[in-house]
Formats: sequence, C-alpha cells, structure tokens
Amino acid sequence: RSEEIAWHHANFDALTGLPNRRLFRDRLDHEVRKAQRTGLPLALLFIDLDRFKEANDLLGHDIGDRVLTEAGQRISGCVRRSDTVARLGGDEFTAILTELVDLVPVEQVAQKINDALSAPFFVDDEMVYLSASIGITLYPDDASKAEDLVRNADQAMYVAKNGGRNQFSYFTPSMQREAHDRLRLIGDLRNALSRDQFKVYYQPVVDLGTGRVVKAEALLRWQHPRLGMIEPLRFISFAEEVGLINEIGDWVFREAARCSLCWGRRLGAPFQVSVNKSPVQFLSRSTEVSWPAYLQGLGLTGSSVSVEITEGLLLNASPAVVNKLLQYRDAGIQVAIDDFGTGYSSMAYLKKFDIDYLKIDQSFIRDMVTNDGDRAIVRSVTAMAHELGLQVIAEGIETAEQKALLIDAQCDFGQGFLFSKAVPADEFE
Ligand code: C2E
Ligand code: MG
Ligand code: MG
Repeated sequence: RSEEIAWHHANFDALTGLPNRRLFRDRLDHEVRKAQRTGLPLALLFIDLDRFKEANDLLGHDIGDRVLTEAGQRISGCVRRSDTVARLGGDEFTAILTELVDLVPVEQVAQKINDALSAPFFVDDEMVYLSASIGITLYPDDASKAEDLVRNADQAMYVAKNGGRNQFSYFTPSMQREAHDRLRLIGDLRNALSRDQFKVYYQPVVDLGTGRVVKAEALLRWQHPRLGMIEPLRFISFAEEVGLINEIGDWVFREAARCSLCWGRRLGAPFQVSVNKSPVQFLSRSTEVSWPAYLQGLGLTGSSVSVEITEGLLLNASPAVVNKLLQYRDAGIQVAIDDFGTGYSSMAYLKKFDIDYLKIDQSFIRDMVTNDGDRAIVRSVTAMAHELGLQVIAEGIETAEQKALLIDAQCDFGQGFLFSKAVPADEFE
C-alpha cells in the first residue's frame, strides 16, 4: 500500500490529480510506440493559460489553485476518456489525443478547450476570466520521436501566445527554422562583444526653443558578419534572456561616457549623453564598477550621462531598483522614462521616484497632426510633467508640422529623423 502511495506521488500532480510531467512523458513514449504499431496518428497539444499569473497575484494563491484545478477538469471534459490530460507545472497542461482516424477532431478539441477555458471561473465571490494558448503537433507528420513532438508543441504554443492569445496554432517547419535561427543568433551574440561587432550610434536631442543640439541618445547597433547591421529590437530581448545585456549595457555606458567626455571638452561645456538601461540590468548583482564611480574616475559630473528606463520597471519596483535610482540621484545622474504612454503611465510614479525627463513615445507624435486625441494627450502630458517639475522630450519627430505643434505645446526637447537619425560618433560630432 505504501508503495502504491509513493508511486501515486511520483506520477500525479497533487493539486489537480492529473498525471504530472513524468507520467506524461511515460504515456507519450508509450502512445508513440503504439501509434507506430497501429499506424494511427496522434496529436499532442500544449495548453498554456493566458494571464493566469496576473489573476494569481491579484486574488491570491488559494483562488489560483482552485482555478487551476477547475481548468484541469474543464480540459479533461473536452477529450475522450482514453486520451491523456496532464499538468506539466504552473499553468501548463498537455493533452495527448490518440488513435485518430482523421485529423478533423483535433481542431474541434482545441476549439472546445479554448471555449471551455474562456468561460468565467467562479471561485468564492470572485469571477476570473482566463483564456488559453494552444500549440498542436502531429505524429507522424511533424516528428516521429516523443521529445521532438514536445519541442514542436511548445514552439507552436509560443506562436499562439505571441499571436494574441486565446487561439491555437499548428506546428510548422518554419517555426523550427525560426527557433534554430534564434539559437544561432544567441550563439553569435555571445561572441559579439569580444569580436568588436557592436557600435554605438548617437541621435541628437534638440532644444525645441532654440533649435540647438543639446544632448544625444546612445543607440546600440550590431554589425553582424553574415547578416549585416542588426537593429537593437531584434537582439536586445535575446541579450536580456541570456543575461548578456549586463555586459553589453556596461559597454554601451562606457562608450557613451567617453563620448560625453570628448564632446564636453571640445565644446567647453558638459554634454549629456543618455543610455538605455534594461530592467534586467537593475536585477543583476554584478561586481562591475558602479556607473557613478566610473564617471568620477573619468572626471565627469553625474549629469554627463542620463539613464533611460521604462515605466514597467517602476510598476513593481524592488528595493534593488529603488536603491539604484537613489544612488543615481545622489550622484546627479538624471533619469528619463522612455516610451512614455505605452505602458502603465502612472503619474504617481513620476513623483515618487524623482524622475527628471519624460520621453513621449513616438506613436503619439506620429499621429498628432491628424489625430485630435493624440494631440490632446501630448499637450496635457507635457503640462502635467511641467507641473511636476519634469522636462519633456518628444520622440520620433519626422515633420516640421509635428515640430510646430510640439513647440506650441511647450515641449522642451525633440528627437527624430527631422533633425537626424542615429549616426556613428564621428558623424555626430
Ligand atoms: P528608444 O530608446 O525609444 O529609441 C528610439 C528609437 O526610435 C531608436 O530606434 C531610433 O532610431 C528610433 N527613432 C528615432 N527618431 C525616429 C523617427 O523620427 N522616426 C522613427 N520611426 N524612429 C525614430 P533603435 O535605435 O532601433 O532602438 C530601438 C530600441 O532599442 C530603443 O528604443 C531602445 O529601447 C532599445 N535600445 C537601443 N540601444 C539600447 C541599449 O544600448 N541598451 C538597451 N537596453 N536598449 C537599447
Ligand atoms: Mg531610449
Ligand atoms: Mg523611446
């Protein structure tokens, strides 16, 4: 009896009573072998709940646990008794649909699961709304080995999630290629710094009142030996994922500081260069020389460099983030909120965290000539920022009309292709 209990513990998920990851892999191996024998295809579904984490954080783990249990029951209710539904952990479930005579039911089951999970969950007095992203892969069409099926279903699930959630997606060979390219790019990224493939470009920031270039933003570029010049949006998230962003970010910072030093000397007055800092960099416990100390070592004042962060960083600011920001303030390093208006955009944070600049996202600037709403947002955000003692930088100014409207709104600084795109340091100079 005790052996039986131990076996149950090892193979079933305590919360939902469903098979766990281990038993799932057992069953999948078994079903693949059976399918080889019978020649009947099988389908593997990866089911990931959308927004479960938010609900769990908001309503507490008790309610979260009950939602998961019910989600497991709902999924089980969508398949035949002979199919296996398992919980891999967290909010991830799988279903193995076996002995398929044709593939029509696969899609029907996926749709049924999506419908079942988008119906509200009633727990205590709470009503929780979720949905699911489902990845589907087929044996033998997509792969013949269990581990390949698992990888395929996982990739397809990510595609469903990135496609806007609450949907299912079939595995395709192009997903395989993309995943492969991604791994290769990450591999290349590991060597890019030591092989001197990064360049920092500088985009001027113009004082809208006088029209003079008063600052610059440092923007990273990657000169890839095979793929040519790669934009940061294509690789920063990978660098964040694998932790390389710390080294890379420190390097950008040092480059920017060096340029500030050189340009300040030539101008006979300090010249501020801003650097973008990823939230991941705030979490690292790197032993690197701190940024304020580095500036001091060069004989620069703190205000020679400013740091651009995003609103998300302030949303759940940990003590480490708060400390870093206080350290910057004490050193005189100014802080800007980048892409303002695209995230939570809380005015309370601006006051609480001693922010110096607000950079209005280019999406508002782009349409402000034709869209009254965007124009009103730009005007009122600027007025509010000024009341709070912040200066405003408009991003992505491309036309003289936009510039005129921004001057009219009393926006302080502007940046955009109208003045110049980001260019190499010598060209900037
Ligand atoms: P960001 O900080 O908001 O930078 C502004 C982006 O808008 C830059 O793209 C810039 O080239 C582009 N831009 C500037 N003026 C205009 C305009 O008039 N029209 C349009 N359509 N675009 C304009 P870029 O250089 O591709 O950088 C993209 C993002 O990558 C940056 O957005 C920033 O979030 C991130 N990034 C760049 N360098 C670094 C870095 O060193 N570290 C980190 N963590 N992130 C970086
Ligand atoms: Mg920026
Ligand atoms: Mg921006």
